[in-house]
Amino acid sequence: MSITQTLSRPESDVLAALDGRREAMIETVVAWSKINSGSTNLAGLERMVEVLAPRLAALGGELAIRDPAPVEAVDSQGRLTPQPVGRNLHLVVRPDAPLQVLLVGHMDTVFQADDPFQDVVWREPGVLNGPGVADMKGGLLVILEALAAFEQSPWTDKLGYQVVFNADEEISSFGSGPLLANAASRAHLGLVYEPATTPDGVLASARKGRAAFTLVARGRSAHAGRNPEDGRNAIVAAADFAVRASALNGAREGLTLNVARIEGGGGTNVVPELALVRLETRVASHEDRHWVEAELARLAREIGAARDLTLELHGRFTRPPKPFDARTQALFETVRQCGADLGQPISWQATGGCCDGNNLAAAGLAVVDTLGVRGGAIHSPAEFLIVDSLVERAKLSALLLMRLAAGDVAAP
Ligand SMILES: [Zn+2]
Repeated sequence: MSITQTLSRPESDVLAALDGRREAMIETVVAWSKINSGSTNLAGLERMVEVLAPRLAALGGELAIRDPAPVEAVDSQGRLTPQPVGRNLHLVVRPDAPLQVLLVGHMDTVFQADDPFQDVVWREPGVLNGPGVADMKGGLLVILEALAAFEQSPWTDKLGYQVVFNADEEISSFGSGPLLANAASRAHLGLVYEPATTPDGVLASARKGRAAFTLVARGRSAHAGRNPEDGRNAIVAAADFAVRASALNGAREGLTLNVARIEGGGGTNVVPELALVRLETRVASHEDRHWVEAELARLAREIGAARDLTLELHGRFTRPPKPFDARTQALFETVRQCGADLGQPISWQATGGCCDGNNLAAAGLAVVDTLGVRGGAIHSPAEFLIVDSLVERAKLSALLLMRLAAGDVAAP
C-alpha cells in the first residue's frame, strides 16, 4: 500500500522530517549506550539525566528531576537495608489539553559499572551491538524524536503529555513507582518504549505479573557435636520451604516459580541459625497472584511451627499481571492502523516478561508498552538494535499521537 494514499498531507509533512534524522539518531544512541547506566551506577544514571534533560526541556512544558522514594532490600544477614537508586526525569507539557498521554522509558540497564559489556560496535551493516542499545537507550530516543515531530503538527493544542524517564525499571521500579502512579492518575493512556518482543517488531499484549520474595529463616545455633538437639537448623527449614515453594510451579495455569538463591551457614560443626531463600514467581491473573501469596505465607507459617523456628517472608508483587482487555485491544488496533498506513505490519503476542507497562495498567490506563525499537538478545552481551527501526518507530508514535490528537481515533 502506498503511503501517499493513506496519510493526510499534514501527517506526511510531519513524518517526512523524521527521515532526515536517521544519522543523528544513530550517533546519539551510540553515545548514550556508551554511558554505563546500570541500575546501581548512580553516577552513570546522573550522567544520563544530564544528557536527557536538555532534550526533554527542548519540547517545552515543565521539567523536574525527582528524587526516588526510599527503597529497602533484604541483605545477606536478613536485615532490611536502604538501597540507593537514581533520580527520575518528569516532563509535563500542556496539562490542560483535553487528551493526556503518559510516555515512559527507563534510563537504567542491567549492565553494571563492572560488567565487561560496555562498548558499542557494528555487528553487521545496520545492526548495532551494545549495552542498552535496544533496552532502552534506543527507546528513549524514539520518544524524544516522536514528540519533537508531533510538536510540528497542527494538532498540538488537543494533546498534552507527561514523559517519565526512570532510573530503576530493571530492579522493579520501587524508587520511581510512586512517580509513575501519580503521573498515570493524570493520563488517559500510557505508551512505554520497551523494545519489541521480536526483531520483526511484534508487540507484547498480555503480560504476566511478577513478585520477588526473600524468605528469612531464623533458627538457633548450637555445637554440632555437643548439643545439636538445642539447635534449630535454619538451612534445613529454608530448604524445606524451597522445595515446597517450587512444587507450586504449574499449580495454576501459567504460574511459574523460580527458587533462585539460598544463602546461609558457616562451619560444619555449627548448626546454622540463619538462612535466606530468594525466589520469584510469575502469574497470569490477579486471582493467581492472591493465591500464590497466600500459599507462600502458609508454607512459611507451617514450616516455622513444625520446626520451631521463625520464617519471615519479605517481598510482594512489584509488577501486577497485565490482562489484555477490550479497551487495551482497541488501542492496539489503532497502533496497527497507524503501522499499516506507514507500511509497517504490526502484530502482538502475550509474554511472561513484565515492565512498567504492568504498573501503568494496574493504575487503570490502557497501555502499549513495546513501542520502542526492534532488536533483540536484551539483557545479554549479544543485545542488538536494528537501526532502521529508530526512524520507523519514531514515525509510528508520531502518527499515533497526531491521530489521537486530531480525534481521528477514539482515545481509550
Ligand atoms: Zn527495558
